[in-house]
Amino acid sequence: MVHFVGAGPGAADLITVRGQKLIREADVIIYAGSLVNPELLKEKKEACQVYNSAHMTLEEVIRVMEEAEKKAFATVRLHTGDPSIYGAIREQMDLLKKRGIPFDVCPGVSSFCGAAAALGAEYTLPGVSQTVIISRMEGRTPVPDREKIKSLAVHQSSMVLFLSTGLLEKLQRELMEGGYDSDTPAAIVYKATWPEEKVLFCTVASLFETAERYHITKTALILVGRFLDGEYERSKLYDPSFTTEYRRGTDADGMADSDMSNREAPNQGADKEKET
Ligand code: SAH
Repeated sequence: MVHFVGAGPGAADLITVRGQKLIREADVIIYAGSLVNPELLKEKKEACQVYNSAHMTLEEVIRVMEEAEKKAFATVRLHTGDPSIYGAIREQMDLLKKRGIPFDVCPGVSSFCGAAAALGAEYTLPGVSQTVIISRMEGRTPVPDREKIKSLAVHQSSMVLFLSTGLLEKLQRELMEGGYDSDTPAAIVYKATWPEEKVLFCTVASLFETAERYHITKTALILVGRFLDGEYERSKLYDPSFTTEYRRGTDADGMADSDMSNREAPNQGADKEKET
């Protein structure tokens, strides 16, 4: 069995409990050496075989998985962040399906979540933006025409750009041509959640200059949007006058909600889903 596991954004304790268990039990680990924290491998069994996929082709990766499967080994394919975002897992899963090798996926904390944590930011602020666009500049991997930064920028939503740190001059031009004002707040988060993390605040117009000044050329995310700064509206969900499935609205002062009657009894209310 092959387990695709999200390693999280960098800090070794940001892998999921399930992911860590799979690492502990693995007979073979193939990890994305360019971005996965090697500390995560300390948990492996002594006899576990380790491969760094940075030096391997897709075919080589699959061959290792096939060999492991013949021996009824457990294989962990360790990807940075969450494997569903620029993880190139689909092509691996399709080849495994063809070979009848079973697999599953254990999600991880994506670096765009790590970056928001580093900034103390919320992407989805009422009155500002209720949408996060995750995209990238075109590099060697093409981006469909209808998804070019200029078109996405029209929405002026919160935006996160992966894999684009080397293309900031073009990125900032396209963001502005597309619709963001030049003074729209932006941030560059380098190695979010790693010990060497750097957070740089700037504007859309100064992205390139800021990265140059701090010598940031890779392993960074570019965040753009008014969510980084300024005014927003408070949430409806926690508004005292707002009635939800779980709470009756009160007078505007919200006194009835602020007393201790809201404290949960043990085992109560584990499964709350809220939509506003
Ligand atoms: N699956 C990963 C993304 C892999 S693509 C995820 O969910 O995060 C690799 C790109 O992700 C890098 O070029 C960089 O843009 C971004 N990235 C990965 N880890 C990062 C980190 N800790 N801090 C900032 N950017 C990171």
